[in-house]
Amino acid sequence: MEEIKIELTKNPKEKPQDESKLGFGRIFTDHMFLMNYDEGQGWHDPRIVPYGPIALDPSAMVFHYGQEVFEGMKAYRNVNGGINLFRPDKNMARLNVSNERLCIPQIDEKFAVEAVKKLVEVEKDWVPHSEGTSLYIRPFIFSTDAQLGVHPAKHLLFVIICCPVGAYYPEGLNPVKIYVEENYVRAVKGGMGFTKTGGNYAASLKAQDEAEKQKYTQVLWLDGVERKYIEEVGTMNVFFVIDDEVITPALQGSILGGITRMSTIELLKSWGYKVSERRLSIQEVEKAADEGRLKESFGTGTAAVISPIGELKCGDKVMTINNGEIGEISQKLYDNLTGIQWGKVEDKLGWVVPV
Ligand code: PMP
Repeated sequence: MEEIKIELTKNPKEKPQDESKLGFGRIFTDHMFLMNYDEGQGWHDPRIVPYGPIALDPSAMVFHYGQEVFEGMKAYRNVNGGINLFRPDKNMARLNVSNERLCIPQIDEKFAVEAVKKLVEVEKDWVPHSEGTSLYIRPFIFSTDAQLGVHPAKHLLFVIICCPVGAYYPEGLNPVKIYVEENYVRAVKGGMGFTKTGGNYAASLKAQDEAEKQKYTQVLWLDGVERKYIEEVGTMNVFFVIDDEVITPALQGSILGGITRMSTIELLKSWGYKVSERRLSIQEVEKAADEGRLKESFGTGTAAVISPIGELKCGDKVMTINNGEIGEISQKLYDNLTGIQWGKVEDKLGWVVPV
């Protein structure tokens, strides 16, 4: 691949002083990575340039047909002052899975990881220092062809932007309230649920909005055919502990394969837990709850890492899980995953990539 050209900004922004007010996704750093794709030329002109607006023709395909994919990952300031990425190769592999489904040309995964490292190196002073904070990294690719008509694009842009983000749990892990979504579905087998593309998130907005109005944090998505099998929780993968079995829905096409999900399964197995990736119906969960065998439930994702579920509402039935408290497995996973990310726990499985 070509060398990444770097043009540094002449007007650096002031960095946020109060890291307790960072929030999520509102403040962006000084630079961004860009790379173009043009038919016949392939991916070319990788460059880091000052952060700023991108001019697009109003007919640009992405606006009309949504040919777009993205990723979400973080850079963490480790306890020795260095900067860690967490399994960035997995994010780029997933980006290519999304690309394939959306007729977007494959990227060179190793090169894309190098691009992330280079950008984070340029922005190293933007990686916040306070406990629980990080630099969120958003790679995305979209079609730019100035042409209407539903066809795969011949011209695309690959962009990476970064934003310093606050601690997800400033006061420690916090169990959330979830309800089972009975009207809307997020994705179906054969669709795009296994990819990270904007359309999946557009499809989820309405349910999320209604859940918030009813004072629930998120919805639990069921499968789109039988409306029976559990898929995901909001924008996280979901796990249930029933008796001594840790269960998460198998990846069958409509579920996004989370990097945190993958890491959770690998960690639990390394500790000797019985982990199953299988179909799990909401009725099986309800029955286990009735019989006192539902021990814990939690969501997994880059943003929160582990999000314990304290209450699950299904129709008129409300299930309180583990007395609405943080379960033992949830806490242990959270401590170990974040420990590895921050360099506090030995990285036995070789997941951390220093910048
Ligand atoms: N499912 C969906 C729909 C998501 O958007 C995310 C967040 N990327 C996840 C699951 C969790 O994936 P990860 O662990 O890679 O963040």
